Amino acid sequence: MARLLLLGAGHAHLDAIRAIPTLVTRGHAVTVVGPGPCHCYSGMGPGVLGGTYPPRAMALPVRRMVEAAGGTFVADTAVRIDAPGRAVHFASGLRLGYDVCSCNVGSVVAHRLPGGHGAADDGPDNSDGPGGPDGDGGGGGAPLVLPVKPIENLYRARQALLRLAARGPVHVVVAGGGPAALEVACNAAVCLGRARGHGAATVSERDSVTLVAGRTLLPRLPERARLLCRAAAAARGVRIVEGARAVRVAKDGLLLDGGRTQPASVILLATGVAPPPLFAASGLPVGPDGGLAVNAHLQSIDHPDLFGGGDCIHFTPAPLARVGVHAVRQGPVLAANLAARLDGHARRTTGKSRASGQPGLAPYIPRPGYLLVLDTGAGTGVLHRPFGGAELCLGGRLAFLLKRAIDTRFLRGHLPPGGTRPGECPWDATA
Ligand SMILES: Cc1cc2nc3c(=O)[nH]c(=O)nc-3n(C[C@H](O)[C@H](O)[C@H](O)COP(=O)(O)OP(=O)(O)OC[C@H]3O[C@@H](n4cnc5c(N)ncnc54)[C@H](O)[C@@H]3O)c2cc1C
Repeated sequence: MARLLLLGAGHAHLDAIRAIPTLVTRGHAVTVVGPGPCHCYSGMGPGVLGGTYPPRAMALPVRRMVEAAGGTFVADTAVRIDAPGRAVHFASGLRLGYDVCSCNVGSVVAHRLPGGHGAADDGPDNSDGPGGPDGDGGGGGAPLVLPVKPIENLYRARQALLRLAARGPVHVVVAGGGPAALEVACNAAVCLGRARGHGAATVSERDSVTLVAGRTLLPRLPERARLLCRAAAAARGVRIVEGARAVRVAKDGLLLDGGRTQPASVILLATGVAPPPLFAASGLPVGPDGGLAVNAHLQSIDHPDLFGGGDCIHFTPAPLARVGVHAVRQGPVLAANLAARLDGHARRTTGKSRASGQPGLAPYIPRPGYLLVLDTGAGTGVLHRPFGGAELCLGGRLAFLLKRAIDTRFLRGHLPPGGTRPGECPWDATA
């Protein structure tokens, strides 16, 4: 028997969670620790903000999935990994030992802005602002600041926009120039436009949505895809500010590096992501931005019983983009390698094998290029897919329908019978 400890029930651990019955049959014990009973699928987060999907549509009830499979779920947050001592310390004071541990704790929003207490991106209630966690983003003057991670915050943003729209004009500023920033800006515009009751998927004259993109919008996308994204943003009434960076949250908006303040009642931070400080704080080998340094087998380069996948790792063979596509594709490799390592442990403890090497670990081989489909709100999208030297770009309804088909198929593949139940996710106020 060997003990498997999974930190985080994110995209990269879903295959390992699905394999729990097999692991238990082989005599292993599996414990999964995550901050809450549900995990949010980011692909649908912007659609929840825009109202395309109800909040539960993006949630996977991981506690129920783990327990139904024969594992143990603990609601907690890892704060330190003691790899030499094979134990993990949690925020509650709990300490759990392991034989094999895997980390899939995702990422946090990078470049937090001073003045906005933007560090509040990893707790159960992440809404924050100079006015405090309940910063009203309106009447009191203090903007409400919400990082786009964790993804539940996009639902919180929707609730805040609807609440504020009932009181008066709402001015949203999205900080960031990448795909998440564009999706969030377009869907905030849809949310506000529809809140005004005309069914329009565009921001009304009373309100505003401004995207402060830094140097330029979507610098990593080719010109054709950028044009489609600009057209989508224009259709939603989103104003794009380029050549300006957000530097701090002011009492009435967002201060830009030119000295101008962009008035805001709500500030959404989409300024890129980075691994959480957990690994560096634990003295583990990390990459340049603090991701757990792993080899091709998704195994810590210094600690063979420690694995990881998704946004939180630094893949040493070739640094990877922090997109869900890699987390999802790493899932089966991670699940197989964890099982192999556990079996190796069990064999050693029962004296059936003296082998201490790598029992048949599989490598993760990243495929070049990936399909990117941005949700630009109200059932539209922008698709980009590189093919060797060429690329496919497509905007509009078809792009969205393809994204929806991929996202719903992925979720259906993991959801337990009956899906996510009303009231199962503590943040879902619609339950
Ligand atoms: C708005 C937005 C839209 C996006 N859309 C797409 C998209 O359409 N397609 C795509 O490929 N990528 C998308 N991405 C990127 C995608 O979200 C990430 O790459 C993906 O979530 C990474 O998956 P993961 O499993 O590594 O981490 P996550 O999905 O973040 O999962 C990590 C899990 O670990 C838990 N956790 C965190 N800290 C701890 C801790 N200390 N202890 C225990 N548990 C912890 C979290 O609660 C979470 O459940 C989007 C990102 C954003 C911000």
